[in-house]
Amino acid sequence: MRLLQTPLLCNKQILVIDQTPKNKNDRTWCFWETEAGLFEPIVHHRWHDIQFLSQQFSNTISIAPYTYKMIHGLEFYNYVIHFAQQFSNVTFKYDTVKSIVNKDKRVEIKLENDAFTADYVFNSIIFKQPKVPKGKYYLLQHFKGWVINTKTPAFNTNLATFMDFTVSQQHGTTFMYVMPTSATQALVEYTLFTEELLAQTDYENALKHYIQNKLDISDYTIEHEEFGIIPMTNINFPKYEGRIINIGIAGGQAKGSSGYAFQFIQKRTAQIVASLVKNQHPFTKTTFLEKKFKLYDSVLLNVLHHKKLNGDTIFADILKKNNAKIIFRFLDNNSNLCEDLQIMNSVPTSFFLKAALQELFL
Ligand SMILES: Cc1cc2nc3c(=O)[nH]c(=O)nc-3n(C[C@H](O)[C@H](O)[C@H](O)COP(=O)(O)OP(=O)(O)OC[C@H]3O[C@@H](n4cnc5c(N)ncnc54)[C@H](O)[C@@H]3O)c2cc1C
Repeated sequence: MRLLQTPLLCNKQILVIDQTPKNKNDRTWCFWETEAGLFEPIVHHRWHDIQFLSQQFSNTISIAPYTYKMIHGLEFYNYVIHFAQQFSNVTFKYDTVKSIVNKDKRVEIKLENDAFTADYVFNSIIFKQPKVPKGKYYLLQHFKGWVINTKTPAFNTNLATFMDFTVSQQHGTTFMYVMPTSATQALVEYTLFTEELLAQTDYENALKHYIQNKLDISDYTIEHEEFGIIPMTNINFPKYEGRIINIGIAGGQAKGSSGYAFQFIQKRTAQIVASLVKNQHPFTKTTFLEKKFKLYDSVLLNVLHHKKLNGDTIFADILKKNNAKIIFRFLDNNSNLCEDLQIMNSVPTSFFLKAALQELFL
């Protein structure tokens, strides 16, 4: 999408390979931004206020200058594919990629039934699960979401529940996420940050229990279901392997400490396109800021992995003592040192300082 919107690049021969056509609504993206983004025309719903709930602290927070936005996976796929179909230099191919290998100054890509070479391959496939070296962490953010419909009005469409930690924390950091899109419809998602997945019935029972007992809804239908697993890790997903440019989660674009990926993917693809225009190659250097936020992610993962503090306590402290603008800037990897110190000051220093020293020196 970004290549095609860039006059210097939009005439390149582009082959898009996926194993199957993107014709299912397999995910819902939520993210925040301060301005209209590239995908503004397909934003399904927007919220200006969010709710945070926990045993320690609960509040409704106005998030200006940010807006919390939702995009449906299928609308995203249709929008991008429709745009790309206007370009005769873009070809779609459905097949399974078997290997991607650098060969001289080209990249060879082997499919089950075909093979191609290209100047560059932008790869979003994780071919094998990475090994977790000693001293690194690999938590899973796993979640099941239901879009439910009620017969009578049950939701306030102006208020999204960003995190509701008032659910059992027996498995580890666990919260519900409630995104109402009409008075009678909401996405309710049961989310955990743990090392192990649960049985599918555990997610379903937790959702049923929450809808019945916390949302006080007994008469509803499930319109849509989604399930996801996102790595929360500080292991290195290489950005490049020769002329193979890893993008998306395969390129390390899921933030280690939150699992949010959508906006990081946007930022990264914009950087790649900017570099192609300016430098005639897609390679960008890792910046000091990227390293700084990777360290922060590692510190939080250290605290969660070693169970020094529970996730609900950490998030409650941060939400209680900071305004939304600083929190979102921090979560976006955009905060300055002064704002970082303010966030760090809101969590128990003894645990975090020790974890920071371990991450820096061990
Ligand atoms: C249900 C769900 C909800 C999410 N919600 C949010 C959210 O609200 N906010 C947020 O920031 N992030 C969210 N994420 C995380 C992240 O934004 C998404 O996972 C995002 O789609 C990652 O993009 P990607 O390009 O890395 O991978 P994908 O979108 O998964 O793309 C990888 C592509 O590679 C194809 N592929 C894989 N193997 C092969 C092969 N061998 N041959 C050919 N093709 C292959 C797949 O078919 C797929 O199309 C969510 C993830 C899921 C699963």
